[in-house]
Amino acid sequence: MSPPATPPASEAILPVLSGERARSWLERRSRRGTARPDQAVLGILEAVRTGGDAALLDLVERFDEVRPPALAIPRPRWMEALAAVEPARRAALERAMRNLERFHGAQRRREAPVEVESGVVAWREFRPLDRVGIYVPGGLAAYPSSLLMAAVPARLAGCREVIVCSPPGADGEPAPPVLAAAALAGVDAVFAAGGAQAVAAMTWGTESVPAVDRIVGPGGRWVNAAKLAVSGVVAIDLPAGPSEVAVWADAGADPGVVAAELLAQAEHGSDSLSVAVLPDEAMAEEVREATLAALGRAPRGALAARSLAGSALLVAGSEAEALAWVDELAAEHLVLLREDADRAAASIRHAGSVFLGPWSPVAAGDYAVGTNHVLPTGRRARADDGLSLDDFGRWIQFQHLDRSGLQSLAPTVVALAEWEGLPAHAESVAARLGGGSGPGPVSRAPLPHDLVRPHLRELRGYRTARSEHVGGILLDANENPLGPPGGLDAGLARYPDPRLPALRTALAEELGTEPGRVWIGNGSDEAIDLLVRTLADPGDPVGVASPSYGVYADRVRAHGARVVPMPLDADFDLDVGVALATLRDARLLFLCSPNNPTGNRLSSDRIETLLERWPGVVALDEAYVEFAAGGSLASNAGGSWPRLVVLRTFSKAWGLAAARVGCAVADAGLVRILTRTGLPYPLSTLSARVAVAALADRAGMLRRVADIVAERERVRRGLEALGTHPLRSEANFLLFSVDDPRTVQRRLAEEYGVVVRDRSDLPRLRGGLRVSIGTRAENDRFLDGLARVPGVRTEPAAAESAGVRSEGRA
Ligand code: PMP
Repeated sequence: MSPPATPPASEAILPVLSGERARSWLERRSRRGTARPDQAVLGILEAVRTGGDAALLDLVERFDEVRPPALAIPRPRWMEALAAVEPARRAALERAMRNLERFHGAQRRREAPVEVESGVVAWREFRPLDRVGIYVPGGLAAYPSSLLMAAVPARLAGCREVIVCSPPGADGEPAPPVLAAAALAGVDAVFAAGGAQAVAAMTWGTESVPAVDRIVGPGGRWVNAAKLAVSGVVAIDLPAGPSEVAVWADAGADPGVVAAELLAQAEHGSDSLSVAVLPDEAMAEEVREATLAALGRAPRGALAARSLAGSALLVAGSEAEALAWVDELAAEHLVLLREDADRAAASIRHAGSVFLGPWSPVAAGDYAVGTNHVLPTGRRARADDGLSLDDFGRWIQFQHLDRSGLQSLAPTVVALAEWEGLPAHAESVAARLGGGSGPGPVSRAPLPHDLVRPHLRELRGYRTARSEHVGGILLDANENPLGPPGGLDAGLARYPDPRLPALRTALAEELGTEPGRVWIGNGSDEAIDLLVRTLADPGDPVGVASPSYGVYADRVRAHGARVVPMPLDADFDLDVGVALATLRDARLLFLCSPNNPTGNRLSSDRIETLLERWPGVVALDEAYVEFAAGGSLASNAGGSWPRLVVLRTFSKAWGLAAARVGCAVADAGLVRILTRTGLPYPLSTLSARVAVAALADRAGMLRRVADIVAERERVRRGLEALGTHPLRSEANFLLFSVDDPRTVQRRLAEEYGVVVRDRSDLPRLRGGLRVSIGTRAENDRFLDGLARVPGVRTEPAAAESAGVRSEGRA
């Protein structure tokens, strides 16, 4: 690359071309040939691949005429180099780095998941590269700025390890400015190796140099040839060709400024390209003269002269032709010295980096704006872009289909797979959905989605700007930027994240299910209400176990649907035959296990049988399951049992009734519909916070449950001693019967200050009172009071006549 002995004649510099001559000049540039594989480069690559450090050191010695004492430069040496940088230069380097961090930091983004169809969700997530190798050229010129251009985005992307290779100078180390920049950027290692041998070392690794996942950074001919040769083995950035500028000026542009831009690019190397697209010949001549005059004064004038001899000033016949030429050039840098720079920029289709207006020189972008100066050259800007955060990671695709999603896509997959003659593809769908060996029809049982009220199936749901944009300055929801008064937490000024990510994750883990199967809201009462609203049109029958928790029937009536009582059997367990006979065309049934107020658990095999034989949604309320001996069915809900919905609450075992937190575990498709049917912000930030904190102390919950269960059994014995025949309970309450429940309830409250619940109006619970288990002292007070109140039954035989069935349970 040494300058020629004889500079080009001045007539050869920046020829002014128009019309056909300009077009054929552009055409010649577009028809550039391919790079030939270079035997010498291939030999170097192979030597390092097989010979490791020893071969690398030999090659460094051969090409750089120095044998470094060690390939790795110790970090203290970089720090010394940084300390030795003259203050003004160091400040410049630091400012350049700060702006790079600002500009590239803004490239961090998250993509929102897309619900492609109901039950089919797809998204991409960014994952940084593990290890990146930066090549920094050395030799005559040292480019600390180039190191920053790669190291800053690599760090911001989150790459685990960033290494640098740069050729050594006479002292066996890379140039001090490169070492200083490495120290400033905080890379992990610096190696004294350049050329094709450095590329080989970073591709395959040697004893000292680790193999990387991507090699970036500009280099000369050897480095580019080596990068192209290894590109099948390791990712590379664009091979950097000679630098380029295109200046698109209008008649008002200053010819001196056009000339300055052309010359600035030309000083990079004798093969750099500096082209201006101009409106008329007169201006072209002025630009040419200004360039020649400046060239005479330029220290790197001889080099620039050669470059300008290969460049041109193109005079366009019209604005449209000018734009077409600018796009045809697809230049690395494009300078718009035009009155209408903004409008012109909007019409540009091909360029690496565009500089708008008279105050935006390319040099500012090269060093200080914070944009990246590693850009596509040689017309690659038609398809490529400059170095960015995206080059230091990959976007991994994810997809999640739930059963209903797969069921709905199955015909499409099968049709295309069969068409393409790939039957095993179709089989992989059939194997999941059932239906035997062929991709035939799948299970005919309806899915929750099919049972939802038709207008809700396609309801889009309320979306906020935050559904699409994560982070930033939030001026989208009319909140109060100053926060609440009264010294309250400023975070409360913001609406909660409706997805409740922290609580959802913790809860899914607690319940043994997937986050997508959990609906969270204000207590399980809200889940009950929402299920009725979602599944029952006004007038529709809804099954309600009887006797059971009163809110089921209450909410059914509130929404104008019809309560169909489904009697529990003699033991207050589910009777599948009775259920099938009573439910008929209902689409929703409420069950409670352990049942409130009887305290018994329902048999899970009966629930399973019902789900197999009845095509509706079974909402199983497990409000008290933590106190019961048997486990929860939550992990089956919406999964292996698609039409089972399990309701859970924080009001009982978790001791958070005031926070109003409950959830439903269900088929993911149904959860999405519940979410869209419900209110935009399903839970307050405060409630979500306390629920997360409680979940973090599962052991604390279990201790409380154990204490309450022990007390329950003690109270039960006390009640038995009073002859009240309490039912056996797996919850935190007991149901017992007395002769005159109204009076007993009133007198307990008025005379002893103990409030219990009169449930004697429920079917088959005549005489029934329900007492919640309190503290030991509270329970003693209750038992003492009860012992003194008249109207408490004392004759065991009378239990049956009171209606509370107790045989087989007491
Ligand atoms: N389900 C049952 C069976 C209940 O007994 C209760 C409260 N008594 C609830 C749900 C209400 O739960 P939450 O506080 O979560 O609304």
